[in-house]
Amino acid sequence: MYTFNNTEIAFAWRTNRELRKAHFLFKTIAQPWLVSMGSVLLRIALAMRFPIAWIVKPTIFSHFVGGETLAQSLPTVDALAKYGVKSILDYSVEGKGTAKSQEDAYNEILSSIRNAAHNPNITFSVFKPTGLINVDILTKLSQGESLAPEELSQLNVFKERVRNLCSTSSKANTPILIDAEDSWYQIALDDVVRDMMLEFNKEKPYVYNTLQMYRTDRLDFLKKAYDDAVTNGFKLGIKFVRGAYMEKERERAKKMGYPSPIHPTKDDTDKAFNDGQEFAFSHLDTISIFCGTHNEKSVNKLCELMEKGGVSKDDSRITFSQLLGMSDNISFMLGHLGYNVTKYIPYGPVREVMPYLIRRAQENTSVKGQTSRELLLIEQELNRRKTKSKP
Ligand SMILES: Cc1cc2nc3c(=O)[nH]c(=O)nc-3n(C[C@H](O)[C@H](O)[C@H](O)COP(=O)(O)OP(=O)(O)OC[C@H]3O[C@@H](n4cnc5c(N)ncnc54)[C@H](O)[C@@H]3O)c2cc1C
Repeated sequence: MYTFNNTEIAFAWRTNRELRKAHFLFKTIAQPWLVSMGSVLLRIALAMRFPIAWIVKPTIFSHFVGGETLAQSLPTVDALAKYGVKSILDYSVEGKGTAKSQEDAYNEILSSIRNAAHNPNITFSVFKPTGLINVDILTKLSQGESLAPEELSQLNVFKERVRNLCSTSSKANTPILIDAEDSWYQIALDDVVRDMMLEFNKEKPYVYNTLQMYRTDRLDFLKKAYDDAVTNGFKLGIKFVRGAYMEKERERAKKMGYPSPIHPTKDDTDKAFNDGQEFAFSHLDTISIFCGTHNEKSVNKLCELMEKGGVSKDDSRITFSQLLGMSDNISFMLGHLGYNVTKYIPYGPVREVMPYLIRRAQENTSVKGQTSRELLLIEQELNRRKTKSKP
């Protein structure tokens, strides 16, 4: 359907200098040995509190992150909006597990929601539940273990905060996405999110859960969630992703001797992702789709369904999304064509967003096709500009 190879559209927002920097960056992270060595060195530097901002900030940080604060990220929001691409500001600080860090994260997410309420170019808010609660509590809860009184009170604080975030989002008329991480504590989160949907999604989906379709049980989960939504009269907001923690999931399952919850092959994950979206699409009256992927085939599949089903490109029930610094060829083309498309813009202090950045580097190394695609497109655009500027 779409080829997503129009580099003039994809990189219209990037200067030559920015493109050359991006080219250097992707060339570097295409080398698995460099990424492995760099990740180890950065982790050591972080642990020793060695200054890293001088090397990280002008390179990988400036490519994949909006800024150290919400305010610093706003120029990126404006720049994207000029090309029909909306934004989602994502406070990407990974949970340290302390009460102070949880309170700080909660306050930061609240201000990002309030900020979104006044900015038409920010169409969703987002948060990672593990920034707000200790994962051990969620894990115990997911495994049906009883909680100590102190853990119970922490759980209550967490639930109250999640409720406030969802309530503020619905009042701000900006839906909120709840990210998914490890499968072994997702059961507890799914229950919390379901309660939020029941309370806030009566008219329209303000609360979105995330389904990682690399999990073998998610298609079934989706179908049951749909039945539940129909029976109890609420809308389902679903962010579809493939899933970012495959190696960790498989290793844990092997180590602890339970069957891996992840599909055995990439083809199986691809099929589950597409089947999930197809199921959601055939129940659009109840399910709104947030398609978070850099996979061109999956994007095209959904575009085709929309075209065949006579659903307009800007139907509010369907949104596409990519991460800042990746797949501009998809985001900017979709924006150009009039689809609802957003970029996740991570932000946070340099040291705190390092785990996010290391994950991006590792993802771009291991997903070889993705890196070479980014490189090829950047090279094409640099060549196109060179040829064009010749008399
Ligand atoms: C906007 C947005 C939001 C996101 N939010 C989340 C989130 O909340 N939680 C989360 O976990 N991830 C999230 N991700 C990351 C996402 O899950 C993927 O890791 C990433 O997007 C790569 O998948 P893809 O669909 O873009 O592309 P592809 O390159 O087509 O797929 C790569 C993915 O396929 C799967 N895969 C690869 N090899 C195999 C194999 N051998 N067997 C089985 N499966 C395999 C893995 O999930 C891998 O990440 C988000 C991504 C985007 C764009």
